[in-house]
Amino acid sequence: MEERHYDIIVAGGGPAGINAAIAAGRQGKTTLLIERYGFVGGMSTAALVYPWMTFHTESGKQVIKGIAQEIVERLMERGGSPGHLRDTIGFVHTVTPYHPEIYQVLAMEMLYEARADVLLHSFIDEVNVKDGRIDHVVVSGKSGRLKLSGAMFIDCTGDADVAYLSGAPVQIGREKDNLTQPLTMKFRMRGVDLEKVKQHIIDHPENFYQKMMVEELANNEVPLTGVQGFYPQWEAGGVPINRDQVLFFTGPADDEVLINCSRVQGHNGADVYDLTKAELEGRKQVLMLRDFFRSSIPGFENAEVSNVGTQIGIRETRRINGEYILTKEDVTAGKRFADVIARSGYPIDIHDPTKKNVEVAWVEGDGAFDIPYRCLVAKQVSNLLAAGRCISTTHEAFATTRLTPSAMATGQAAGTAAALAVNEGCAPADIDVKQLQQILASEGVVLD
Ligand SMILES: Cc1cc2nc3c(=O)[nH]c(=O)nc-3n(C[C@H](O)[C@H](O)[C@H](O)COP(=O)(O)OP(=O)(O)OC[C@H]3O[C@@H](n4cnc5c(N)ncnc54)[C@H](O)[C@@H]3O)c2cc1C
Repeated sequence: MEERHYDIIVAGGGPAGINAAIAAGRQGKTTLLIERYGFVGGMSTAALVYPWMTFHTESGKQVIKGIAQEIVERLMERGGSPGHLRDTIGFVHTVTPYHPEIYQVLAMEMLYEARADVLLHSFIDEVNVKDGRIDHVVVSGKSGRLKLSGAMFIDCTGDADVAYLSGAPVQIGREKDNLTQPLTMKFRMRGVDLEKVKQHIIDHPENFYQKMMVEELANNEVPLTGVQGFYPQWEAGGVPINRDQVLFFTGPADDEVLINCSRVQGHNGADVYDLTKAELEGRKQVLMLRDFFRSSIPGFENAEVSNVGTQIGIRETRRINGEYILTKEDVTAGKRFADVIARSGYPIDIHDPTKKNVEVAWVEGDGAFDIPYRCLVAKQVSNLLAAGRCISTTHEAFATTRLTPSAMATGQAAGTAAALAVNEGCAPADIDVKQLQQILASEGVVLD
């Protein structure tokens, strides 16, 4: 088996892994990012997750910056994002639309600028642990099997694959029954008359989410970014999908929307048998939704499906049981932690594993909560960190930390922490967290 060695190996090239590898590379460490697909971006590209939400608190303070903000600015420079726009649904303060094709190319360029190596088409399917440390991972691909050893490993697989295969403690879904949030096959439609959609909202505000920015839309003060509601149409439509409303977001093209309405429940996104069933069910739902939108939603009469996710969107699978488990109470109280490495203002937003609704809990305090460094530190395996969906939380707290901007932020923190651990020759659990915070703050990360 061909062998290579790196200071830091980042597993998974989603938003968390990209930012982790950029951060580690910028700290001067030899870094490898391993991704199973032929492109990076994770759910943002493979599953068409869109838009990113949110970089701000409910009152409009920006609490996610650092590399995440740099990506937004560099996307804006090349026409790949309009930046942070008001969320016309009124659920959060801002959403950040982006062009997935431009994002994945920019991300690769930024990885190479940071001198990180990237290995695509490579699936990690073996983790070798010696004396409580990961010695190497093995990837399978067209080149056969490669053995990749490292001093530090960061699990950004979304499914905590590395932690799971290493024997580090992980958990999945709700504590009481291990059920997870539903899976969703996202898709885009083009040919949508968005002026007609907007006029319908202005004429029938009672049919939409109570916080929709109807007045601002009527006065042309904000562009239409998202729509939630069409309650009577959904009820009358009789689409056999267990949800209670229509949800879609505009862009990136002027006549285009991203539809977030399919809902596949009762399947474990880390089980290939379940995934096989879920992929087909998701694609069948897309076709049903296409017919429903064209026949029932004003403005969609001539719209057509333009893109469907390469894979079904997976909200929740495994996460590590780390040095600290972030709870719902921590989030809703806006709790401050001495070892904060990222903050977020996104509320808890649980798509129910079995019912049709979404359960929401808002963040109090100054509107943001802290993510402590200890949530990134795995137990039992001393050179393993986690970022993005894999960090250590309860099922409820996960329903906010899973969002893309937070995943990017924990990725940057994990990459920086791994580099410090390499420098100090110590375990991630033993690094000087104050020093980590100083580096992150000097790179624009908001910690207060
Ligand atoms: C339906 C749905 C709707 C959502 N809506 C929004 C939204 O509107 N706004 C928002 O900001 N966020 C949203 N999210 C959340 C967000 O998309 C994800 O939680 C976010 O992408 C997490 O980033 P990540 O890098 O941790 O994981 P992922 O994006 O899942 O990336 C993990 C990466 O690891 C790779 N990988 C996995 N296993 C292996 C392996 N064994 N070997 C090699 N590579 C591997 C994957 O291919 C992938 O590229 C949504 C998610 C879903 C599913």
